[in-house]
Amino acid sequence: MLDLISHIVKISSCRDRTEINAAVVDAMVNLFHPQALTIYRCYASKGKTVVFACAGWRANSRFVHNAYLPDQQYCQPIERDPLLQRCRKERSAVFEPLADGSHRIVFPVNRLNEPIYLLDLSLTEEFAADLRISLMGLIEYFDNHIALLEYGESDTLTGLASRKTFDKHLFELLGKPAVDEAPEQSVKAHPMRRRGTSGQESHWLAVCDIDHFKRVNDNFGHLIGDEVLIMLAQVMRQTFRFDDQLFRFGGEEFIALLQPTDQTSAAATLERFRNAVEQQIFSRIGHVTVSIGFSRLMPNDTPTDVIDRADEALYYVKRQGRNQVCGYESLIADGRLVARQVAKGEVELF
Ligand code: GH3
Ligand code: MG
Ligand code: MG
Repeated sequence: MLDLISHIVKISSCRDRTEINAAVVDAMVNLFHPQALTIYRCYASKGKTVVFACAGWRANSRFVHNAYLPDQQYCQPIERDPLLQRCRKERSAVFEPLADGSHRIVFPVNRLNEPIYLLDLSLTEEFAADLRISLMGLIEYFDNHIALLEYGESDTLTGLASRKTFDKHLFELLGKPAVDEAPEQSVKAHPMRRRGTSGQESHWLAVCDIDHFKRVNDNFGHLIGDEVLIMLAQVMRQTFRFDDQLFRFGGEEFIALLQPTDQTSAAATLERFRNAVEQQIFSRIGHVTVSIGFSRLMPNDTPTDVIDRADEALYYVKRQGRNQVCGYESLIADGRLVARQVAKGEVELF
């Protein structure tokens, strides 16, 4: 009992998903002694579910991966593991006896009738009733703690990550090498990896701004304007990959941080989003378009540096008539923009 409380106190002190996962693994290992344990985060999009092994316990040691950056190396389609798949379908704990006499049990953490986490334990013995109750209580506590964290991290209107969390995500990205080091082997080992390995891969930051949004508000009112923002966020979620990070950055400005890819693929992804918005029919108002500027994340960038470059590309698009995607680096290479330092507070040429 005291052990359980001290673990709960430890988990409750964490404000970071990676740290929370690590603390939950510690609690489960100390309290329930599983042979193996994995905390999977679930990402459902476009009718597919991917699970990311974000932390766990294997061969007597703990592993913890950055919870904000689902590394493809540790991701897999859920159907590769039938027990996880069954848990997702049934939305309740599922059990499987293993050949060596032990068993596996998977508990879901559901949100809006869809699992957001799966906790997968391999155990040698059946749980005594009181241990089972403790385990369920711990999982419920984990669920509540994550729900509070999500509430604090997300924008209330659209549900996307809020500006508040943007710097944290970006610093995490900047601290991580973007280019694959052993492409040949990793392609085989990582089922989710499907990008080329040209050595030109990096993270990209895109700023997306709704065109003439003021007119939407002026003509239809703020409530309809808000509906457009909600719907745009939905289109964004449907268009980008599960591991791209999406933010509502300001009023009608959105940011996408793309996982490592080359410039052509980044531009193609953003163009797909631009086109999806253009095709979307927004109830009452019809069509809306977005302008997008993007730039490559450089190792020594501060958040302001990369946003300034993407913004310059965005302003270029606005000047050119809107509803386009432009990359800062291409604009500089083509001579359509001149590289320059933008001093803080300086007025943009717009
Ligand atoms: P441009 O194509 O140059 O971007 O034109 P614009 O009208 O979209 O740009 P501008 O920055 O002049 O106006 C943005 C407008 O977005 C101003 C404000 O009315 C609206 N806006 C900002 N935040 C919200 C919000 O939360 N809800 C609604 N409904 N409107 C918002
Ligand atoms: Mg704007
Ligand atoms: Mg705008």
